[in-house]
Amino acid sequence: MKKRNTVVLLIALLLVSCATSPTGRRQLMIVSEESAIASSKQAYAEMLKPYAEQGKLDNDPALKERVYRITGRLIAQAIEIRPETKDWEWRIKVIDDPETVNAWAMAGGKMALYTGLVNKLNATDDELAQVLGHEIAHALAKHSAEKMSVAMASTIGVVAVGIASDNKGWALTGASLAAALAVNMPNSRRAESEADEIGIELAAKAGYDPRAAITLWQKMANVGGQGPPEFLSTHPSPENREKELTEMVPRMMPYYEQKGERPSYKL
Ligand SMILES: [Zn+2]
Repeated sequence: MKKRNTVVLLIALLLVSCATSPTGRRQLMIVSEESAIASSKQAYAEMLKPYAEQGKLDNDPALKERVYRITGRLIAQAIEIRPETKDWEWRIKVIDDPETVNAWAMAGGKMALYTGLVNKLNATDDELAQVLGHEIAHALAKHSAEKMSVAMASTIGVVAVGIASDNKGWALTGASLAAALAVNMPNSRRAESEADEIGIELAAKAGYDPRAAITLWQKMANVGGQGPPEFLSTHPSPENREKELTEMVPRMMPYYEQKGERPSYKL
């Protein structure tokens, strides 16, 4: 009887907790976006704390200025797509970690970029805009809340949450812990296609060359070192990524070629 109640409860949860992504896909949403945003704020502070203590956040003024400038322009475009996100407390931090090729965004627009991504890819502004636009797109499309939902919904996920949190020393529990762990969980290939589609548009509207989306992923695939970059493990390649991005470029060029100053969000 107890088991049946659990099943009924689970089905009820699934029924009430589906949402629709900006591209029209149905999503599992046990964790509401609001709650994901609140939990992510806590998780973000906790995850950045060790870097802050070691003086490894935003410690290169020129790189900080560059990353903030690009991100500010992308966020201004994100707010055009989802106006309510103007109330998010958007943040980006550059983490001084030259070995890590990675970037991520949490629910509510809390983001991080590792110096390894900039250096090892020798990334241009246009390419950085593609990475950051792609990350912003994940947040806009509620993929972070979706991953948290998956982590919290499955028994395996709950067990994994316990194991994975063992060595991190984070003072996080429940949804905040799920928010921190979601950063290291792979997106689905469908979510990747969505983020590619939204990200390239954000970048083009912010004045960044859409063709850089193609060179970015090529560089990412060819980066040397031990094993593939962290970024590729959480952003699995949808089939035909290069072909699909190439097909999007002509539609994006008019946005990119628009004259005039691009708006920017103050970070
Ligand atoms: Zn992605």
